[in-house]
Amino acid sequence: MSISISNLTKIYGQQKALDNVSLEINKGEIVGLLGPNGAGKSTMMKIITCFIPPTEGSVSVCGYNIFDDSIEVRKKIGYLPEHNPLYLDMYVREFLLFIAGIHNLGKEKKERTEYMIELTGLTKEVNKKIGALSKGYRQRVGIAQAMIHDPEVLILDEPTSGLDPNQLIEVRELIKNAGKDKTVLLSTHIMQEVEAVCDRTIIINNGLVVADDNTQHLIADQSLETIFRKITKNL
Ligand code: ADP
Ligand code: MG
Repeated sequence: MSISISNLTKIYGQQKALDNVSLEINKGEIVGLLGPNGAGKSTMMKIITCFIPPTEGSVSVCGYNIFDDSIEVRKKIGYLPEHNPLYLDMYVREFLLFIAGIHNLGKEKKERTEYMIELTGLTKEVNKKIGALSKGYRQRVGIAQAMIHDPEVLILDEPTSGLDPNQLIEVRELIKNAGKDKTVLLSTHIMQEVEAVCDRTIIINNGLVVADDNTQHLIADQSLETIFRKITKNL
């Protein structure tokens, strides 16, 4: 089991963002967390990645618990946060070397950096400042930094939001390739995204899981569209 979530609840003040969520994600799955804005997607990801604690419940990642072994959890995870925060004044290679340093990659630092530059298609952009890159290339830098330490689990929060149609296709391909030997949990509010990328789809609304199945099953019995339209209609 890569990610095991049990009875997870998060309350911010008066706002319940997650309501007793339990689910398990197996090694090697590419799972889509689909839900409208405010559903609780980012909250779930921030808890899994040890950025915020839950109000109740727990999570383990590759057998490590977020409370007892948070450093090990973070080592196992590559995380692309929502809105992809980057240092815009740093050059692409400089930034990736910096992140590799944070992960204590030692002798492998340079090799991993060059490998990620190639894998994410950043070779031509590598001598530019991040602030000079298009949104699509910035997303590639975000994915490269998430994968630089070769983590078992990738957590990608709305990785394609704001991309133009060409960039969208390229970044989805990159995620599918990257996901071949990893467990991937990505969030999106776009139904077509889970259809294009994810083996399994978890639909979340108001902090509750309302569907969880193989994406092709959900498409075949039309429940993906029916459920998603129903929860987005009232927004
Ligand atoms: P999503 O990523 O699906 O759009 P979020 O997890 O960001 O949803 O938010 C879920 C709910 O929790 C929303 O109603 C949001 O306004 C609320 N929320 C998120 N973060 C905070 C916070 N730090 N303080 C108060 N409410 C928050
Ligand atoms: Mg979000």
